[in-house]
Amino acid sequence: MGEAQPVANEELEKLKLEIKKLKRELKHKSKDNEILRMANEQAVHAQEFIQRENARQVFYTRQLLKTSPYLLILTDEKLFTVMTSDIYYQFGSCNRARIQAGVHLKEALDGIFPDEELEDFLEKCEKTLAGEFIESYLIQGDFFGQRQDLQVNVKSMKQDGVVIGLNIMFVDMTQVVDAKERAEAADIAKGNFLANMSHEIRTPMNAISGMAEFILRDSDDEAAKRHAAMIKSASRTLISIINDILDFSRIESGKMEIVEDDYKLSSLINDVAAMTRIRLQETQTELVLDIAPSLPENLTGDEVRVKQVLINILGNAVKFTKEGSITLRLRQEKLDEEHCRLIFSVKDTGIGIREEDQAKLFSSFSQVDTRRNRAIEGSGLGLAISRSLVEMMGGKIRVFSVYGEGTKFTFDIISRVKNWEGIGEIRKKAAPGAVKAFQASFRAPEAGILVVDDNEMNLDVAAGLLHPYSDNVTCVMSGAEAMVCFAGHDYDVIFIDHMMPVMDGVETMEKLRKMPGGKETVMIALTANALNGAKAEYTAAGFDDFLAKPVSPRILEEMLRKYLPSGKIIENGKENGEASKDAAGEKSAAGGVSGKQSEKEQETEGENEAVLSALRNIPELNVEKGLSYCLNDSAFYISTISKFVKRAKDHILDDQLKEEDWDNYLVTVHAVKGNLLTIGAEEVSREARELEFALREEKKDYVSEHHETFIKRYRALLKACRAALQP
Ligand code: ADP
Repeated sequence: MGEAQPVANEELEKLKLEIKKLKRELKHKSKDNEILRMANEQAVHAQEFIQRENARQVFYTRQLLKTSPYLLILTDEKLFTVMTSDIYYQFGSCNRARIQAGVHLKEALDGIFPDEELEDFLEKCEKTLAGEFIESYLIQGDFFGQRQDLQVNVKSMKQDGVVIGLNIMFVDMTQVVDAKERAEAADIAKGNFLANMSHEIRTPMNAISGMAEFILRDSDDEAAKRHAAMIKSASRTLISIINDILDFSRIESGKMEIVEDDYKLSSLINDVAAMTRIRLQETQTELVLDIAPSLPENLTGDEVRVKQVLINILGNAVKFTKEGSITLRLRQEKLDEEHCRLIFSVKDTGIGIREEDQAKLFSSFSQVDTRRNRAIEGSGLGLAISRSLVEMMGGKIRVFSVYGEGTKFTFDIISRVKNWEGIGEIRKKAAPGAVKAFQASFRAPEAGILVVDDNEMNLDVAAGLLHPYSDNVTCVMSGAEAMVCFAGHDYDVIFIDHMMPVMDGVETMEKLRKMPGGKETVMIALTANALNGAKAEYTAAGFDDFLAKPVSPRILEEMLRKYLPSGKIIENGKENGEASKDAAGEKSAAGGVSGKQSEKEQETEGENEAVLSALRNIPELNVEKGLSYCLNDSAFYISTISKFVKRAKDHILDDQLKEEDWDNYLVTVHAVKGNLLTIGAEEVSREARELEFALREEKKDYVSEHHETFIKRYRALLKACRAALQP
């Protein structure tokens, strides 16, 4: 027994240890249990959170679909619907259950979408599924029972890079499109209004300035004359502002065109320089020309618009420079065999422009530094117009200025070059009035030239212009006479006036063309209404070319050189003194004033000078301009003026108005307009032009109303010319 006792104890100890171990394990287990329980709890919380979040997302998505004003459609990759915005159910043919179960787009959209658009739309959907990007686009039609402009957006939905369906949205743009159309219509109306108003204002303004001129000339009252001078200057400013507004509205409405034609660079520079010098008279500022002699002389481009930009910039320089100088610099950069970039710069020593103002300069209607420049007129449109014109001609305009020191404007344009003959040395400082007589560069004594014009004065001028070239010039006054002449003679060139009574220029040309030799003879239209695209119009009608009236001697010479047979041309040789003298002598004869002996010649010259200076005192007459149409030959010009006086048409116009003979009134006033322009009476001519154009538009009331004003001006001019011609 004594042995059994230790064994039992040992067992007991073992068991105790076992129990302890079990207890420890139990403790561990219950700890793990706790962790598990807690983890479980967390999982439950997380799940509840996710469910709540999901429910929230579903709720918001539902809200989005329920309240969206747009029709949204989600489809699967086979174009079967997945869901749509609720707006669908107001107009669509399928109910919610069907849409959610999936119907093909074609069926889902039945009745909502116009049939003619549906095919194209489904095609775009297929393309989008295939991975193509389709831009949103606008369609028009009766959607949802009313006329709408709808923007269609089709985008693909991707999951893990794979296209799983489409997201389609239709947005109602009706109001936006409406607003845009209204704004565009308003813009056009504004442009038309500006153009019409400008035109309407210009007519009475011309009358105001004309009347002021009468006072200036006829009145002995010094105060009245001073006031009239102010009226004239103010109305001139107003007219130039109106012209700016007209140009600006043309640019805004996209109607401004760049019209290309051949021109001489030297004549452009001389013109703007002469104008600037006139404006600089009686100031302390001088004009300096820095023109590279290698610049190409013969260019093709829009001379009028280049001049407009230059005149505006030079005009500003004159306005804002009290003393010092204005430098016009011109350089070129050859671009290729046919093009160059002309780089102009105008630098002045004037008041300068503040840096913060420089950016505003080129925007419309803005004049800068208005406090200081209050007294200086302008519309603030000049530079905005210049910028547009320069950009239309492929260049840029820039300004560099130091306030208080001066300003430099530069601009460049791309120009076509006819040939690379250089411009040569441009006179740096031309004395006003020292314009040299035009010298014909060749003669063609054998060339047969026929001129057809119903207006005697025009015929005289044409004969005078052609005389230095040919001894064989015939002038006739109607299409019928032209046909008689043509039947008996060969002519190399026939110039035909467009607007003639009975048989007009086009009809005359057509008849002549049908006669033997008619097809081969060069026929050139003469027109006083040369508008944009005139050349194309006349060549389409069957003429070889056209010549604008008043005829520029330079252009006439170019045309003769181009169209006369080269075998008949004999060069005068510019450096040959004899030939030049001959040519000048011819021109004197052309003017009808003979000058054989030198004493007699001197006497005549003295008389001519006296007449010219009397003519220069007539404010309506731009003598230099008139001279330029008469080869800068004073005798020729004076003889033209005397023909203008002798062939006055004031009484004829009066009679035609009285008898309401509108057709003939139109022909007469058109001719008078041309004659006035030829002698340099530009403003009076413009008034005749207003009458002519009013009549063309059947505005007879306008003619009745304005006839008297015009006739008064015309008669006053005739009277002044008559007086100037008296020895
Ligand atoms: P405006 O037809 O009124 O002259 P512009 O657009 O041609 O209008 O010019 C706008 C303004 O730019 C001018 O009113 C003047 O304040 C400023 N400006 C233009 N050229 C010069 C210059 N050479 N010197 C100083 N200021 C100038």
